[in-house]
Amino acid sequence: MDVCLVRGNQGLFLNVLHDPNCQRFPAPKSMNSKKSKRGVTDGHGSFKKVKKVGKASPPPSLNDSLEGDLRAFLIDEDQLHTYDDLTKVNPVTPTTVLKCLQARYRAQVFYTHAGCTLVALNPFQPIPDLYSLDVMREYHSAPQPQEAKPHIFIVAEEAYRNVQGQLEPVNQSLVVSGESGAGKTWTSRCLMKYYATVAASSSVLKSQDAVDRIEKRVLDSNPIMEAFGNACTLRNHNSSRFGKYIQLQLDRSHFLVGASVQTYLLEKTRVACQPANERNFHIFYQMMKGASSEQKKEWKMGHGQSFNWLPKAQKTLEEDCFQETVEAMSHLGIKSDKQAEIFRILAGILQLGNITFDPPAKESEPCVLEGQSKESLQGAAGLLGVPAEELQACLAVRTLVAGKQSILKPCSLSDCGVRRDCLAKVVYAHLFEWLTSFINRSICADNSAWCNFIGLLDVYGFECFQRNNLEQLCINYANEKLQQHFVAHYLRAQQEEYVSEGLEWSFVRYQDNQSCLDLIEGNPTGVFPLLNEESRLNRASDAGKFGARLQKELGDHGSISWDKFSQEPHFSVTHYAGPVSYQIQGMMEKNKDPVPPEIIALLQASANPLLGQVFGDQEADSTAPRGLSKVVTVVAKFKNSLESLMKILHSTTPHYTRCIKPNPDCKPLTFHKREVIMQLEACGIVETIHISAAGFPIRIPFSGFIQRYGLISSSSQIKQLVHSKDVEPGHNDRLRTAVDAMVREALSHRPAGKVDREEGEEHGT
Ligand code: ATP
Ligand code: MG
Repeated sequence: MDVCLVRGNQGLFLNVLHDPNCQRFPAPKSMNSKKSKRGVTDGHGSFKKVKKVGKASPPPSLNDSLEGDLRAFLIDEDQLHTYDDLTKVNPVTPTTVLKCLQARYRAQVFYTHAGCTLVALNPFQPIPDLYSLDVMREYHSAPQPQEAKPHIFIVAEEAYRNVQGQLEPVNQSLVVSGESGAGKTWTSRCLMKYYATVAASSSVLKSQDAVDRIEKRVLDSNPIMEAFGNACTLRNHNSSRFGKYIQLQLDRSHFLVGASVQTYLLEKTRVACQPANERNFHIFYQMMKGASSEQKKEWKMGHGQSFNWLPKAQKTLEEDCFQETVEAMSHLGIKSDKQAEIFRILAGILQLGNITFDPPAKESEPCVLEGQSKESLQGAAGLLGVPAEELQACLAVRTLVAGKQSILKPCSLSDCGVRRDCLAKVVYAHLFEWLTSFINRSICADNSAWCNFIGLLDVYGFECFQRNNLEQLCINYANEKLQQHFVAHYLRAQQEEYVSEGLEWSFVRYQDNQSCLDLIEGNPTGVFPLLNEESRLNRASDAGKFGARLQKELGDHGSISWDKFSQEPHFSVTHYAGPVSYQIQGMMEKNKDPVPPEIIALLQASANPLLGQVFGDQEADSTAPRGLSKVVTVVAKFKNSLESLMKILHSTTPHYTRCIKPNPDCKPLTFHKREVIMQLEACGIVETIHISAAGFPIRIPFSGFIQRYGLISSSSQIKQLVHSKDVEPGHNDRLRTAVDAMVREALSHRPAGKVDREEGEEHGT
């Protein structure tokens, strides 16, 4: 084992190169601007044998010729797949990293360490035994799991051991990121299964039956949340249309005793509007396919019935899971009468989608129901438990309140459609919220029953479509926040620590996305505050005006731009993962997300007990004063919930897993270099590897070092120190002097030939 030890101001820093046969290749020239020797050093160079941490070159960009870099690629290409950690690859460039990952993928090795991060390549096909009980057992019982083959279970086990820390157990967060279809949800499910097995209170790893009771209930939350929150999209047949942070609660004995789920920004527009060649949420198809004939009759989903909101694009396996969803619901305690209420609501939503209007004969009258719509209106009203005439009036007539008087005003044809969609969206979103709270009530342990948690974060990846609006802005903002957390926690904090410790360290440059975040959330002239201000003004939204305001306030900001040739009001943001152009049209309406008070009142009076319950305490506010209204905008809500999430993340020890989608078509075992390299670049993997490779992942405070190794010193003073109160970090100078003496002593005992060699002679200490 090759060890590089460096002394800082407060402790010793180590970089251990695990594989003694692995050549630590000479770094690229720019990384070794100074002659370096392996050995022991201190931050002030007081030892002679010095390993200077060389100047790290900025990682080459994607523009580098892919093949060009390989000329300098010093690894035997036949052996590439054996590199478990990308920090061992040299030189570290996008190309060499890519080659290594490609070789591993070809060899069906899907996990690779990248310093502090785990890279997970999606095989797009089940790999036998990759996640079996035996494999879990292997990683769980390994004395040093980090030395086993890279696997998501290493991350899981590391977090599990950390949370049991002897001195100060620290809550853990496993952050899983990647673009749509990369494997985040799959990975999160694997992690949950791992903890439900290894942390099961009943009998650890004895049999599959052990995964029962609370563990099973925690796992059962997945099929429900996925049935209601996932949909088939062009990028992923099981795409999560919401973000999720689940905290697995552990008791003092580190058994899993419960969990809580927090969800973020469900894409509720999908209920009423599915992008071309995409689908609605899985649950609707599950009902269509899996319900009994009596149920279908009751839900008016009989044979031959077709629904405007159920496009048939691409069949998915998930639509076959009706029974699984129902069983999970029952197991979590949703009784059959409650389930019936849920399914009637869902069936009612589908009927709503078949209601269309025709223009009225006279302009002063409300729009009239078109053809078959009468039947659909009756169906929807019956299933939603509201009177049909009231439902129709609600969709076609607006009530304006002026002082104590109410005036009825017919809605335009397009407004009727907007109100119908709004009704469907608000019902579905409330149902999803209710389900999440129910799940939480069912699986959350009493506060007194748990003391630590491991959090799993699975949020939607960065999105860039042809047309992007508020949803994408929020999603990409969330990704910026997470990237910033990674940058702050790892890339910046680690390097700053080296400098403050007095180690010789040249900063590895990385892309800091603070400027983009300032652009979006900066007060008072960031995009969000301006959008909120505009949305709270009770006036018709004007995309052009808002666009001009953005240009005026943010024209000089480096992270925003405008395409001169675009006809539509828009703005482009330079995100860390690439530029995205956002349409302004409709953005303010989406941000206000208004629900007509008539709709709320209608639902409050529903005969469906669940609808009555979820809308029961909702304020139907039709009397908002002019000027700035008290609307809580979508952006404000989302920003708040993200801020709480970031607070939690900051209070935990994070572990990052970057899922990579090896090809855009979700084809098994197919690796497209360009797609992969773009994802690697977007998440700053190469910078991470640079810092990890050149850095010191292990840090031992002086006090810890003396307590652990002081007894083998021949110095009686140091031996005494081991037992004395002086081994407190407060006595730092004294400890440092003692550590210096111990290291000098150790060096003076080293056998001849084990002395450090010049650079290029690889295995020194
Ligand atoms: P989105 O952001 O759209 O929700 P995601 O990152 O959550 O995407 P997943 O749904 O987890 O993506 O994965 C997409 C598909 O890839 C899965 O449904 C599964 O078919 C396949 N997949 C992912 N990871 C693995 C794996 N480790 N082994 C086998 N198949 C996998
Ligand atoms: Mg997902």
